[in-house]
Amino acid sequence: MADLKVDLTAPNGKKFALPTGLFIGNEFVKSASGAKITSINPTNEEEICSVEAASPEDIDKAVAVARAALNHESWRDISATERGRLLYKLADLAEQEREVLATIETWDNGKPFGDATGDLQEVIDVLRYYAGYADKIHGQTIPTTSQKFAYTLKQPIGVCAQIIPWNYPLAMAAWKLGPALACGNTVVLKPAEQTPLSILYFADLIRKAGFPPGVVNITNGYGKDAGQALASHADVDKVAFTGSTATGKHIMKTASSNMKNITLETGGKSPLLVFEDADIDQAAKWAHAGIMSNMGQICTATSRVLVQASVYDQFVEAFVAVVRTTSKVGDPFAEDTFQGPQVTKTQYQRVLSYVESGKAEGATLATGGKPSPIGGKGYFIEPTVFTNVKPGMRIYREEVFGPFVAIAVFGDEAEAVAMANDTTYGLGAAVFSRDVERAHRVAGRIDAGMVWINSSNDSDFRVPFGGVKQSGIGRELGEAGLAAYSQIKAVHVNLGQKL
Ligand code: NAP
Ligand code: MG
Repeated sequence: MADLKVDLTAPNGKKFALPTGLFIGNEFVKSASGAKITSINPTNEEEICSVEAASPEDIDKAVAVARAALNHESWRDISATERGRLLYKLADLAEQEREVLATIETWDNGKPFGDATGDLQEVIDVLRYYAGYADKIHGQTIPTTSQKFAYTLKQPIGVCAQIIPWNYPLAMAAWKLGPALACGNTVVLKPAEQTPLSILYFADLIRKAGFPPGVVNITNGYGKDAGQALASHADVDKVAFTGSTATGKHIMKTASSNMKNITLETGGKSPLLVFEDADIDQAAKWAHAGIMSNMGQICTATSRVLVQASVYDQFVEAFVAVVRTTSKVGDPFAEDTFQGPQVTKTQYQRVLSYVESGKAEGATLATGGKPSPIGGKGYFIEPTVFTNVKPGMRIYREEVFGPFVAIAVFGDEAEAVAMANDTTYGLGAAVFSRDVERAHRVAGRIDAGMVWINSSNDSDFRVPFGGVKQSGIGRELGEAGLAAYSQIKAVHVNLGQKL
């Protein structure tokens, strides 16, 4: 059967053929129900193309194919070194196709092309990092008595459902596929309905790299049917999810039906603390990068900036100046653009609704807060800074997920830590101080999965990533990321001790 494909020309002139089917068993196929997702370019609100959307019936098929692949000798009996080689090959293919993949990402998601190119580097690096781990995943030998020992095996968990968001479509896929495949699992991955395209081009590379049919299946679809069907499926062994805390809680409940293993990366309202002994200009630059990058659509975005009273005015002045000079909003394919559109109209309206909330609750709008369309189109919003924000306000407590920051004041270190921890979230945090002792002490006391000292959001694939409290369960990336995709079997060996 011929693959479903469409010929496209991107706004930057790049031409390519994009598969549009569900990727099941290394083929691009039609959905059983005929349902489609139409993808929108957030820059001009025009349709890009439509792709197949999985129904629960398609999910059943994808899970069955993933189960068969798990038990098939071509994957079950493959050497760990060969598994690594396949991942290296996939990374090489992604590197060769980097420009097309980044083009699709920018077109569909709205992120600046330079950022999309950076995302592709991350994809390549993550795949190579886990490729190298594939044949270094092993257990222990545990001596017990002179006539007995035990050993442990690290085995794959099985069929893994991976449900990912739209803010970093390919990078989120790579974070999950890399360790899952290195550990020998099979996967059914559901991308977000807002950004279904780049992963289809990537799926073709998975097949070209030589992964056996069914090892990776990619089922675009809507959360409430395809996502729900995956999270509740009785033959899925694990669900790994990145997205909102509300959906994460729902998935956790759904996954309990057959006690699936779970990894959740959810929301955040990460604080960035500026102490009076900080380098204020550096703090202002990093605070800008920490909230305004990727249109503020980052789960770890440091969206709550807490500044010591004695340097509050100085910091606000420096920060607003950086925002005004650096955050150029515009066409994401233009080289000098820092900030493209929000991903969808829904997200755009959501961010604007928080501007109204901030004003209504009495915070000061220091800059931004307005739509910034190009030729009357696009989900562009001016980078928005609220100052004099109080801890009771919604803009201080709720995740906005946009180029939107709330700045508040603190008196001393104890108050700074108490304010930082006064949240249901616990994903990231940043501390600016030139006092080494204070910086490490505060890093230790903040309830967060990750703390940056004198930087923000410079995450790295070699370092564990994840949250505490309602920001998630488990870790991705780094060596810790492997633990999410293997389980330990203990084998007891009797060398002669008689019963
Ligand atoms: P979301 O609902 O959490 O979506 C994330 C993923 O979960 C998508 O693939 C989504 O599919 C899927 N999903 C939705 N409902 C599901 C269900 N019942 N069962 C299984 N899967 C389901 O997030 P969103 O609606 O796109 O964004 C809303 C807010 O979430 C944002 O404003 C932001 O605050 C937060 N968010 C956080 C992150 C992060 O990285 N932590 C990323 C994105 C969004 P569909 O997209 O097809 O519905
Ligand atoms: Mg889109």
